[in-house]
Amino acid sequence: MPANIFEPLEIILKKQGRSQEDIDKIRETYEYAAAKHEGQYRASEEPYIIHPVEVAKILAEFKADTPTIMASLLHDVLEDTEVTADEIKEKFGEEVLKLVNGVTKLGKLEFKSKEDRQAENFRKMFVSMAEDVRVILLKLADRLHNMRTLNHMPIQKQKRIAQETLEIFAPLANRLGIGRIKAELEDLSLRYTEPEKYYEVVKNVAQTKAERDEVVQTLIETIQLSLQKADIKAKINGRAKHYYSIYAKMKRQQKDYHELFDIIAVRVIVDNLRDCYGVLGIIHSIFKPIPGRFKDYIAMPKSNLYRSLHTSVIGPKGKPVEIQIRTQQMHEEAEFGIAAHWKYKEAGSVKVTEADKKFTWLRKLAEVQENAKDAKEYVDLVKLDLFSDQVFVFTPMGDVIDLPSGATPIDFAYRVHTQVGHKTVGAKINGRIVPLETKLFTGDIVEIITAKTPNPKWDWINICATNAAKSKIKLWFKKNKRDEYITLGKEMLEHEISKAHFDEYENIGEFERIAKDLNFTSQEDLFAAIGYGETSTHKVINKLKKLDKGGDIVIKTTGKSKSGAKDIIGLEGMLYHISKCCTPIPGEPIVGAITRSRGVSVHRADCPTLKEIPEERLMKISWAEVHLNKTYVVPIKIETEDKIGILQQILTKVTDNKINIAFANGFTRYGKKGIIELGLEVQDIDSLTRIMNSIEAMPEVISVKRTHSSQNSSKRK
Ligand code: MN
Repeated sequence: MPANIFEPLEIILKKQGRSQEDIDKIRETYEYAAAKHEGQYRASEEPYIIHPVEVAKILAEFKADTPTIMASLLHDVLEDTEVTADEIKEKFGEEVLKLVNGVTKLGKLEFKSKEDRQAENFRKMFVSMAEDVRVILLKLADRLHNMRTLNHMPIQKQKRIAQETLEIFAPLANRLGIGRIKAELEDLSLRYTEPEKYYEVVKNVAQTKAERDEVVQTLIETIQLSLQKADIKAKINGRAKHYYSIYAKMKRQQKDYHELFDIIAVRVIVDNLRDCYGVLGIIHSIFKPIPGRFKDYIAMPKSNLYRSLHTSVIGPKGKPVEIQIRTQQMHEEAEFGIAAHWKYKEAGSVKVTEADKKFTWLRKLAEVQENAKDAKEYVDLVKLDLFSDQVFVFTPMGDVIDLPSGATPIDFAYRVHTQVGHKTVGAKINGRIVPLETKLFTGDIVEIITAKTPNPKWDWINICATNAAKSKIKLWFKKNKRDEYITLGKEMLEHEISKAHFDEYENIGEFERIAKDLNFTSQEDLFAAIGYGETSTHKVINKLKKLDKGGDIVIKTTGKSKSGAKDIIGLEGMLYHISKCCTPIPGEPIVGAITRSRGVSVHRADCPTLKEIPEERLMKISWAEVHLNKTYVVPIKIETEDKIGILQQILTKVTDNKINIAFANGFTRYGKKGIIELGLEVQDIDSLTRIMNSIEAMPEVISVKRTHSSQNSSKRK
């Protein structure tokens, strides 16, 4: 009878003093779920609805709020019945639907790998996909009940599920600080993964029970007596550690059960923090503490926020005993973890606060155990992991890769393997080819298409989100594109020298000497190091100056600049070109950018590309005031009305102003408008402004703008 199934849950809810209104809502949900699961049975041949009710009971004991309990009753209806999401939303509200959806989504994830690191990533993915911590608790309760009833499953399935529980769910419960679920999951798993070991431990624990009880009893009485004298109130209980932890100890220490040290755990629960330390002092004065076993997790809580004092002493009959001392509050936190912070009001349910949902431990989950090479890289990694969200994606083999959000297939490829990164030529996400700058989302299956030979692109630096990928790309270029860096470094150095009013160096051999002085094997190495920013031009200049003073070498310091750019001050004697992205002309403020192989690129001071260039590559320059009768091609775009002959009229206007046309891109129609692109040869900003204004003044012209050069304009070197 359905009523009997619901009753035990109702008793718990009532005992907790939950409001009748909430209990009615939960009952209504139960009746709905029971009707939907009608005719379905579990492997145990019980009616299916027993499972959701058991899950709800576990959650009720964890003081979960009403929506969570309602969701637990509905957690399998989307998967196993005809019920639709809309129906749940309509009947039980959006919050309940969200929780049910969350659990359903997590249920579809399948864990395959056997590697530890994979398990950790899987747990993280789990957490990030859950979004709401209540979903994880619900999933844990679901798993706990499934583990409690695992004996009804076929043996192969038992092993697989138990293994998964051990690798994923027990550690997850531990990370959330839910000691109670963690211990039960571990014990239940062990029973199926290592049955002989499990029953051996169970048998031994049972056989030694009488002796252990005696030790515990004496211990408790002795401690209580002293505590009474000190006027400290405490609840003390003792028991054997849970089976799995005994098993783990045997395995770790490679010992037999009887050789094991302390398997008795005594817990002392006191009223306040001060008493914790008071009790510790008293216990240490009665029993001999075992050196090295005291741990103060109150002063320094574990990463899952577990707090307690731990010590081990030689107890009655010479038996080592582990003692945990904590307050009631700490105890609840240790048992219930995050759920210990949930409070429902007597009158009704209270929502989990945002702070709870994003509780500190969620961030701590993202602990960094990357192989960070140095302190800075480590800090960068921590920053990314702690302060931005992560995405978790699959390899085609089902491995999980964690990346910072905003990561692209390039990051993925380099994470898989450096060589995979270098050889990347394309990527597929969920089976479809995508551009390499596509951002990855949690759950994506990513496949990298590789070439036979490595050929990374420098541009990738701008589209990858991980420092690891960036530094691998840089390293590759450092190794394989050395020549380019040598040229760049040499140019940067030449530039600095010209600014310092040295003459251009004549004796190339002196760089050889400076290189040796600075611990480089050759001058090429020195140039390359300047090129990729490992050493500065100033270091070299200082060396030059010193030598100059010392009279070792002679540098002509005539101060006169060499021939070269006469129209730009600051570029005398240097290779340079006018940048095509902004095509500056005399009269406009300009800035020089030292390029890798084409000398200095001259930009308008307000050119957006300058933001991308490191400051040390920028140089102050300006137009010379004298006019050299030199012209500069400036591309402009004219928007006009669609009118016959307009192009001709504009061209006439330009030539009337004695301005040459470097190129003209005819009339392109867009609806009722036309676009004309022109390359104007002008001397300076004044003449440009004048002609643009006069074109704009034509009645058919809608607008006139300066643009980037089109390919037609790239005549200039
Ligand atoms: Mn279930």
